[in-house]
Amino acid sequence: MNAQLAPDLVRRFADLVSPGHALVEPADQARYLIEWRDLYRGETPLVLKPADTVEVAAILRLAHETKTAIVPQGGNTGLVGGQIPGPGRGEIVVSLERLDRVRSIDPLGNSMVVEAGAPLATVQAAAEAADRLFPLTLASLGSCQIGGNIATNAGGTAVLAYGNARNLVLGLEVVLADGRVWNGLRRLGKDNAGYDLKQLFIGSEGTLGVVTAAALKLYHRPRGLAAGFVAVASAAAALDLLARAQGAAGFGLTGFELMSGLAMEFALRHLPGARLPTATAPWYVLIEVSSSRSDAEAEATLVDILDGAMAAGEAGDAAVAQSLAQVQDFWRLRHGMSEVQKQEGGSIKHDVSVPIGDLPAFLGEAMAAVTAAFPGCRPVPFGHMGDGNIHFNVSQPEGADRQGFLDRWEEMNAVVHAVVAKYDGSVAAEHGVGRLKVDLLETTKPALDLELMARLKAALDPEGILNPDRIIRRT
Ligand code: FAD
Ligand code: ZN
Repeated sequence: MNAQLAPDLVRRFADLVSPGHALVEPADQARYLIEWRDLYRGETPLVLKPADTVEVAAILRLAHETKTAIVPQGGNTGLVGGQIPGPGRGEIVVSLERLDRVRSIDPLGNSMVVEAGAPLATVQAAAEAADRLFPLTLASLGSCQIGGNIATNAGGTAVLAYGNARNLVLGLEVVLADGRVWNGLRRLGKDNAGYDLKQLFIGSEGTLGVVTAAALKLYHRPRGLAAGFVAVASAAAALDLLARAQGAAGFGLTGFELMSGLAMEFALRHLPGARLPTATAPWYVLIEVSSSRSDAEAEATLVDILDGAMAAGEAGDAAVAQSLAQVQDFWRLRHGMSEVQKQEGGSIKHDVSVPIGDLPAFLGEAMAAVTAAFPGCRPVPFGHMGDGNIHFNVSQPEGADRQGFLDRWEEMNAVVHAVVAKYDGSVAAEHGVGRLKVDLLETTKPALDLELMARLKAALDPEGILNPDRIIRRT
């Protein structure tokens, strides 16, 4: 592997894209090297912005031949450092941002074909223009790209109704590590003719191939939407409420997000104009119900759920959004959760999942464990309760030294992950492994899992040039 790239090799790579699309100046490269959480600082000899699949293939052919490491990059919103190169590793960034076309939409067949660099918001808008829904949705939707979503098997807030990215992909076009183009861009609802190869690349975080285009599954757009904000006394009450909402709304339950009381306090403190829709409580739930008919039908279902929950003592107080603006206000509270934690000093993150029924017990034990081990720390769990996926973030004690707290990141992780293990959960539920959790994976995955993963990696990327040391370490 080339740790540093010789100038003539940098030139050979640069010549594979048209002038102006090979960036060597630090000022031009900067936005590809800055990471959202400020956990990593990138360094690269070259950022390449190919125009199409043919140029991506040429880059990978040369990389394969010269054993040069490649870091594919989408919208650079990843939270585990996978898309950030270096430092000192001679890794070339290949940005997919110019492959941003919607190639085709087939509303009757409920599918669309888009290029990897299309921002998620653009994909959603194109589906909407054809009176269809592409349901994947995350707070980073304006910046993240569909290729990045597929590479990370992104989740978000609509997973409980529509599944994560993996469930929304019909086919893929992938440039392999040796530069060959695998055309798996099929739009079939059923295809059991052998191994489902596309699934290998979904969630592989750029370690097995570079996604250049995808055939996506579309849905009919719900005609009605209602959102409720609910104050609950405990996570156990929230679980009862979830069961009630699923029973009443079925697949129409399109959101069920849990937020701790303290997480909400942070939001109210730091989000301009934020207002709590209910009385204060230890926990809050945001429920979204969709209807194929009308807002009135969605609201009737929601009101039914909330009335039942109040009568059963599951909910203390509840508010139903009275306008689309209010629906957006509710979601702004939820989507602001990560941002507001930055205002409260250092925050140690955990992206975990446990079986849904175990969530209340997990939350109780994990909160007790971190406050016992780190007196004064402030756990602010929130997330996708409907999927059993919680962002178990822990803010530093008030007034404590930020760096001193962050220096104990792994110690804190060990405390939380021990509770996750007890419930047979996952320590990388939706954000992936990247560089951040490579060691963690080595210590938490069974040896046979790791062996099979290493064999897949060796088979698809024999020179180890694609995102080296992400997910699994080079041997
Ligand atoms: P990048 O960050 O550019 O890359 C991510 C990884 O994918 C890297 O390893 C990269 O090498 C690889 N990659 C990117 N494009 C390709 C490609 N075309 N081919 C092969 N590999 C590629 N994630 C969730 O799952 N759910 C959430 O709810 C969620 N909320 C978020 C909220 C905020 C505010 C932020 C900042 C992030 C959030 N994320 C969430 C994380 C992130 O947005 C997702 O992981 C997203 O899918 C990454 O897409 P991206 O285009 O930014 O990829
Ligand atoms: Zn999330």
